[in-house]
Amino acid sequence: MSNKRILVTGGAGFLGSHLCERLLSDGHDVVCVDNFFTGRKENVRHLIANPNFELIRHDITNPLFIEVDQIYNLACPASPVHYQYNAIKTIKTSVIGAINMLGLAKRVNATILQASTSEVYGDPEVHPQSEQYRGNVNPIGPRACYDEGKRCAETLFFDYHRQHNVDIKVIRIFNTYGPRMNPEDGRVVSNFIVQALSGQPITIYGNGQQTRSFCYVDDLIEGIIRTMNSSKGFTGPVNLGNPGEFTMLELAQKIIQLTDSKSKITYEPLPIDDPLQRKPIITLAEKELAWSPTIQLEEGLKRTISYYTEVLSRS
Ligand code: NAD
Ligand code: UDP
Ligand code: UDP
Repeated sequence: MSNKRILVTGGAGFLGSHLCERLLSDGHDVVCVDNFFTGRKENVRHLIANPNFELIRHDITNPLFIEVDQIYNLACPASPVHYQYNAIKTIKTSVIGAINMLGLAKRVNATILQASTSEVYGDPEVHPQSEQYRGNVNPIGPRACYDEGKRCAETLFFDYHRQHNVDIKVIRIFNTYGPRMNPEDGRVVSNFIVQALSGQPITIYGNGQQTRSFCYVDDLIEGIIRTMNSSKGFTGPVNLGNPGEFTMLELAQKIIQLTDSKSKITYEPLPIDDPLQRKPIITLAEKELAWSPTIQLEEGLKRTISYYTEVLSRS
């Protein structure tokens, strides 16, 4: 792959920082744009000294004029706690942010990839989920700012593709976890590990029978890069996730076992519109990208637990 100038929006976040790191190690010039809402300079501090890395504080709801060959559009809070904190800002980030980044891609003729989500399937009535499934989203609930924002962004990507011939790639990411998730992020894997390591109760929402499929970050980054560099005609949407499916109770028990924790499980109310089940069908990714995850939950959790053990020992 030849050396490219690559923009990563949301590059100081959890996934964005891993992506910047990988692109730099592949020899590219990386421009990381972030407004530091949920991202942290800490996540990219080790990259600052690299002459091929640039960090810009910028909010993608404002226009951005730079020259690049590829754009990975990851900017958007991903944890329900954070995306519901300022719901209007979340939907502006997804919709106005997408318009600006698509306008940029159109002007400079860049390939642009959108980090969409399994949340476009809402609380799915079809299980497991393939890309053909159109979803079951409540358009007026507390999760809608995120789910509908991401759905509208997908619409914009396909309209810019049809109307202006912009080279687009859309991935639908299923729950991904790993080192550098903010300990305060609020998503389930980081919550449970931090709780287990610090001896606090493990907070299961609802009865713990709801399921999720968890993908380790390194697998996901490989899938993202393969999608960006896939053949010109391939737009997606393509599911990227690990089809292993676990209940939240199983996840809690696994984390307690792996951390050898004395934490007890407590039960709290299930948030409104919390999807009851989720599992990707990934045959499209296998066929088009020759991609499938290689790191199973136990191994990924062990690596993530090591990271948090280190982080908590510093604080
Ligand atoms: P994250 O919250 O760690 O990262 C998001 C980053 O975007 C942060 O650095 C944040 O500061 C930045 N940001 C938010 N609004 C911005 C704005 N208006 N302008 C500039 N920067 C802004 O979350 P993550 O898990 O790394 O998620 C990255 C992307 O992947 C998001 O678009 C998310 O919707 C998507 N995604 C993630 C998952 C997952 O499980 N991790 C699943 C599905 C989709
Ligand atoms: N835009 C941007 N950077 C660019 C080109 C465009 O941020 O390099 C923004 C521009 O400000 C506009 C949006 O992208 O708000 C959509 O651009 P497009 O050219 O599609 O639409 P128009 O400018 O005609 O509204
Ligand atoms: N969850 C939980 N305890 C927590 C955080 C989350 O039981 O401390 C549950 C949550 O209700 C959901 C699942 O774990 O059913 C995944 O939640 P997360 O916020 O990580 O992601 P999403 O709901 O967006 O898939």
